[in-house]
Amino acid sequence: MASALAGGGRVVFLTGAGVSAESGVPTFRGADGYWTVGSRVYRPQELATRAAFQTMPDEVWRWYLFRRTACRGAEPNPAHRALVDAERELGDRFLLVTQNVDGLHLRAGSSLGRTYQIHGNIDFMRCAGAHEGELVPIPPEVPAVQQEDPFPEEARALLVCPRCTGRTRPHVLWFDEYYDEALYRFESSLVAAAGASVLVTAGTAGATNLPNQMVAAALRAGALLVDINPDESPFARAAEDAGGLWLRGPASVELPRVARAVAAAIRAG
Ligand code: NAD
Repeated sequence: MASALAGGGRVVFLTGAGVSAESGVPTFRGADGYWTVGSRVYRPQELATRAAFQTMPDEVWRWYLFRRTACRGAEPNPAHRALVDAERELGDRFLLVTQNVDGLHLRAGSSLGRTYQIHGNIDFMRCAGAHEGELVPIPPEVPAVQQEDPFPEEARALLVCPRCTGRTRPHVLWFDEYYDEALYRFESSLVAAAGASVLVTAGTAGATNLPNQMVAAALRAGALLVDINPDESPFARAAEDAGGLWLRGPASVELPRVARAVAAAIRAG
């Protein structure tokens, strides 16, 4: 760790759904893996799409409001808190890139400036029409939605663009959409990975595009790769193949250990 950090580059933490699993937010491979609309069963890969929103916007909103209800009922766990401590210690040498849309990193205290939410944030919406660059917090009056609840009609007048009163959509990157810089920090994340001294991946299956590009960029640049995941993944294998580490424990245990080790090495160096 100390020799990897000697170059002075950043420590980039890349988190996935596994980091929030211990807060009770299901991963896509867990219990949240399906959703029923009428007589049809949809997987997230079918529902979390622009195509689904175009044909059944109320159903897609209903699913997101249900997921948001679960996220808002969850609390940050020691993994989230370890990253708050790491940011405090490392300052500008710290960057957090998260695939999680649950907002738990920000609620734990990570700063918006050093947290790239590359798949969006379920607490925000944006115009589905012309003003899609402007993020709007979901109004607090929007009710909680449980799994069996219908679309809440009282939310209809709240889920609108403040500029044009048109329909809004959740601020999340859907499976049939592309990353960009303005909404999702695409280029910034790649630049950060390519300049990192250490890349720590935690709780991610390694199945999404930008994280894969980040790991490849960091490895090309000679960064130390550390993967945290109880199960094997492409990132675990990549770390081991490149002389890095695969830590086979839960994020709530391993992330605090890694964050402490990084902080100690930087203090000593
Ligand atoms: P994933 O569901 O594909 O994989 C989760 C990974 O976490 C698995 O590899 C699993 O082995 C690991 N894991 C489970 N429990 C863990 C723990 N306690 N500690 C460490 N690792 C653990 O998640 P992904 O790779 O993030 O990709 C799924 C996509 O789904 C992303 O686009 C993400 O935005 C979205 N998603 C987000 C949330 C959230 O915001 N919390 C939840 C579900 C899905």
